[in-house]
Amino acid sequence: MIDTDGKIELAGLTSEELKEFVLSLGESAFRSKQISAWIKQGAQIDEMTNLSKSLREKLAKASYVHGVEITRSIVSKLDGTEKYLYTLRDGNIIEGVRMRYHYGDTLCVSTQVGCRMGCRFCASTLEGCVRNLTAGEILGQLLAVNRHIQKLEGESAHIHNIVLMGSGEPLDNYDEVIRFLRLVNAPEGMNISLRNISLSTCGIVPKLYSLADEQLPVTLSISMHAPNDAIRKQLMPIANAYTVDEVLKACRYYIDKTGRRVIFEYALVKGVNCSEADADELSSRLRGLQCHVNVIPLNSVQERDLSGPDEETIKAFIKRLEIRHISATRRREMGDDIQGACGQLRRSYLKEADV
Ligand code: SAH
Repeated sequence: MIDTDGKIELAGLTSEELKEFVLSLGESAFRSKQISAWIKQGAQIDEMTNLSKSLREKLAKASYVHGVEITRSIVSKLDGTEKYLYTLRDGNIIEGVRMRYHYGDTLCVSTQVGCRMGCRFCASTLEGCVRNLTAGEILGQLLAVNRHIQKLEGESAHIHNIVLMGSGEPLDNYDEVIRFLRLVNAPEGMNISLRNISLSTCGIVPKLYSLADEQLPVTLSISMHAPNDAIRKQLMPIANAYTVDEVLKACRYYIDKTGRRVIFEYALVKGVNCSEADADELSSRLRGLQCHVNVIPLNSVQERDLSGPDEETIKAFIKRLEIRHISATRRREMGDDIQGACGQLRRSYLKEADV
């Protein structure tokens, strides 16, 4: 990507593109390997000490590594979950979260500044979408966090898994998200397996088909949140564009193409989508589909008039799915003390800063 000041974002380049860029500066191709190794470590240009000073100056004039800087981090006392606020090169703020699981650390990354999908329960979308993130900025979140945790916890600390579940709708920023997936998966890059990456989407149907055809078998998570169109329309404007049937048909295609099961996210919203009849309807809809349902009690958002149901309703809903042979679990709520839900931390920061 070329920024407004004409500089190239190195983290967003493939190894081939980086080589071309280095050649265009009149340098030999092998320098690109050295630069690439530094990028992987999250270093900035002035730290690339095996390059001559004059090359570093030349590089800095024409490029930067990535424009993502951790501005604030907050660690949950409950479970070690860590939230980050990042400042981008143009001053925009995004947020992310690192979750500690027994199978490794997972980083939740944002794909846009804000979001334009308008889901009624989500804080990320309250002010619409400011802009798309570049692939380098999505990768930059990972590079910045790896660096941050390595400084604090030692060289071996690093992110194992990535979920594209932060602010933004990944399939509304399709090209940059696909580029990011290829970069993060590249053996000469971060080399993170696609099986360790989940992409969560509200279900932009044509893009689901495109994704299935990319041969990037990431775990697909669909934010379903309803058993039928009428209820889904109450919660998610995207339901006016695509029916539940159309979403499910695209999921079937994804499963056929990738051999991977699909995850359905289902946030329980009191009085809207959590009756036993809703669970029954969802079960019949999903019957025969290779899938799993992640049930999430709604995280209340201050600006929204919606809340989660009581414990009994949550348990009954999951039980009802299980009785009907739909695999379902309750998603662990993490970082409750540090505003774990989407977009909440960024919003409170922006309010505090009055921007
Ligand atoms: N735009 C993408 C990814 C971002 S949201 C998507 O729609 O999937 C990540 C997940 O968190 C989605 O399943 C979203 O519906 C859910 N979510 C958003 N706000 C929430 C809240 N207040 N409580 C529970 N889940 C929420």
